Amino acid sequence: MKKAKDIININNIARAVVALAIVLVVIAVGLFISRNVAGGKSSDDGYRSIVVVASGDTLSKLLTDQGFSNAEVLEIAKVLKKDADITSLRAESDKIEFVRADETAPISKIIIVPSPWKQIEVTCDADGNWQCQTIDIKPDTRVIYRQGEILDGDSFYLAGGRAGIPEGVLAEVYDLLAFEMDFERDVRAGQKFSVLYEENFANGEKVDNGRVLAVQFEALRGNVKMYRFKKADGKIGYYDENGNGAIKSLKRTPINNAKVTSSFSNSRKHPVLGYTRAHKGVDFRASTGTPIPAAGAGRVVARGYNNGHGNYIKLRHNGSYETLYAHMSRFAKGVVVGTTVKQGQTIGYVGSTGLSTGPHLHYEIIKDGKHVNPMTVKLPAINNLGKKDKEQFLKYRQVIDDGIEHLSKHPEWFIQL
Ligand SMILES: [Zn+2]
Repeated sequence: MKKAKDIININNIARAVVALAIVLVVIAVGLFISRNVAGGKSSDDGYRSIVVVASGDTLSKLLTDQGFSNAEVLEIAKVLKKDADITSLRAESDKIEFVRADETAPISKIIIVPSPWKQIEVTCDADGNWQCQTIDIKPDTRVIYRQGEILDGDSFYLAGGRAGIPEGVLAEVYDLLAFEMDFERDVRAGQKFSVLYEENFANGEKVDNGRVLAVQFEALRGNVKMYRFKKADGKIGYYDENGNGAIKSLKRTPINNAKVTSSFSNSRKHPVLGYTRAHKGVDFRASTGTPIPAAGAGRVVARGYNNGHGNYIKLRHNGSYETLYAHMSRFAKGVVVGTTVKQGQTIGYVGSTGLSTGPHLHYEIIKDGKHVNPMTVKLPAINNLGKKDKEQFLKYRQVIDDGIEHLSKHPEWFIQL
């Protein structure tokens, strides 16, 4: 049988139809499935003992404790370094399993589990030589759908937590939605939202979260929808329901979940100077030392200090946009004039230098040399879809929407990939 994974990586029309059928079949998987991880378990049934690595343990100490000679310890360490790039063990996250033919036999195999998705086996062959093999453990991935509602006095994070959406997923969803909506003004009691995302399991236990596949929020300005989609060239992006790129070249809110304390205005009373003058940016409250991410990919064109802005950085982005970040307590290491930065890369840290009443980020977007309101300016999308990709996207979106439709009626269900 084809795997339901196809519904997520769909790349041709025929498969879209097959996948839709699979969604309807596979979707009704109960909560009590506890699949064994594929390829992760060794098949021999020897005598096993498991040692959990404690703080201060070293590989050589653990091996010596098991009765290995110095020469053997050296050889095993050499093989591990060469073939698995393992030189040390991490306390409380790694465990070592020792396998013997029977309780009194010498150890013939050592299994190290450095991460939930990786297992390293060191085996002694008939000639007494140690060999190392790395096995990737395939996660048991489940697609989960959660929906929530904003209540009076709620934040998106509170409502999302109540809906059972894990924190890491919420942060990612916030980052995505922040391209399309203004969390300060667009969020009201009664608004509903939903997220389709993955959770990865090993041996029936949840280990971590996977990808965010679709997001929906009933914003004030209209329903915001985003879908994760892989183009024919392999590039991955998020798109609205019509296939328009949802990831913009710049972020309206560089700092995730920061409160706007002063909006863009052509005339406001300055809190320090006392008289009315334009506020050419937006202020976000954040504590001193909070990392400031670049709103978009670009190049540092100014880094310095002036009386108004304090420590500031100005970035030039593709096209006609520039962004400015002021009142920083300090700059990020290695970020100087001429440095190329990625979207989201930390360029400095929040502070209160210059004309400022308290720690905050003052953020400006400059388009064609003119200051614009970061919260309302229409920003260009990156990674738009061509005609062929768009056709694929619309079919894929239909499959996802059908899946969502089913899951929304049965919140206890998930799609097993
Ligand atoms: Zn300001």
